[in-house]
Amino acid sequence: MRPAYLDNNASTRVDPDVVGAMLPFFTEHFSNPSSMHASRGPVSAALVDARRSVQRLVGAANADEIVFTSGGTESDNMALAAALGAAHGRDEIVTTRVEHAAVLACCKHLEMSMGITVRVVPVDAYGRLDLGAYERALGPRTALVSIMMANNETGTLFPVDVLARLAHEAGALFHTDAVQAVGRIPIDAAASGVDLLSLSGHKLHGPKGIGALYVRRGVRLRPLLRGGHQEGGLRPGTENVPGIVGLGRAADLARTRMPEQDGRIRILRDRIERGIVEQVDRGHVLGDSDHRLPNTSCIAFECVDGQALVRLLADAHVGVSSGSACASGAVEPSHVLRAMNVPFGTARGAIRFSLSRDNDDSDVDRVLAAVPTFVRSLRNRSTAWRRAQNPPTDRSQIHSHAFVETHPQ
Ligand SMILES: *Cc1c(COP(=O)(O)O)cnc(C)c1O
Repeated sequence: MRPAYLDNNASTRVDPDVVGAMLPFFTEHFSNPSSMHASRGPVSAALVDARRSVQRLVGAANADEIVFTSGGTESDNMALAAALGAAHGRDEIVTTRVEHAAVLACCKHLEMSMGITVRVVPVDAYGRLDLGAYERALGPRTALVSIMMANNETGTLFPVDVLARLAHEAGALFHTDAVQAVGRIPIDAAASGVDLLSLSGHKLHGPKGIGALYVRRGVRLRPLLRGGHQEGGLRPGTENVPGIVGLGRAADLARTRMPEQDGRIRILRDRIERGIVEQVDRGHVLGDSDHRLPNTSCIAFECVDGQALVRLLADAHVGVSSGSACASGAVEPSHVLRAMNVPFGTARGAIRFSLSRDNDDSDVDRVLAAVPTFVRSLRNRSTAWRRAQNPPTDRSQIHSHAFVETHPQ
């Protein structure tokens, strides 16, 4: 049986149409685009077409505002390096507690190596940005703001057009990590006012190792790599032609299919949520349900080890992610759930369902058949769950439960 794959925020299946578009650029059209004889050939033409396709998908005003990179991580790093090229006297970056590691780790590095100050804005229990704290973080020293368009764990959407306007009023550049949003919701980079926008091929049914950074005309960027003149000198190195062609085709498919697929995916996602909440006690849907990607649902089960649940589901050929990571032996809820102040006993039971146009009702049926059963069986083995069901009446019982819990079998 085909596995039920519900981990599309981690990566997506490359569309067979994308593979088909890429193949000739491995076998036949393999010239270096910088070779003089290639300048009139299919390789150069394919790069032009792919750039236009990405331009259309993100609503950029000009094709030369699209810079191809090796993926979301490089695009984020390149955008943050732009802060260093910004006006003198500005040495602060404003970001949020729930960004992807590609932004947060890069900020930390800039802080350590360049002496830049990073102001990290908190979110509320729904993962929504604290707007007051954001406005207070902006100031005459802010060089760049980096705030994601959609959170990869909860799907929560951030109002980037409003946030970009506030950043501009403070004289700062605005970058958005739109890796989870591009191809899933309509984007109009030109109208939204963002200066820089990151996207990644493998999150939208394109290949891994290819992405792009939208750079609004007039924004000066400092390249991360030094070398040739490719990508306007911003990203030297022989172009990943098959990858770029694949990203271009993936962008065309996303743009043309989004109108019909968006509603269908949302209905499947909502079926999962409703079905689980109806069948399982104390399951909580995390994130901002009013402003959320149509494909993402993060559900936290009290008194359940989310990683154990993910393993049971994997054995039943259902692929999902957990909202916790094993940091040096101890299970730690993700930085996103901690930023939302989700109680530990709930956050450790969080799992993420993320859908794509490849999913259908049979995947949802399998989730709804498996998850409630596995949650019940894990809870039957959980001391914390039994205690929550039958609160102990005397102190000796409390003591013995505490002992059992700190010495798991
Ligand atoms: C996946 C992801 C990235 C990293 O993209 P890669 O292409 O895998 O480097 C960055 N930001 C977000 C929000 C992501 O989900």
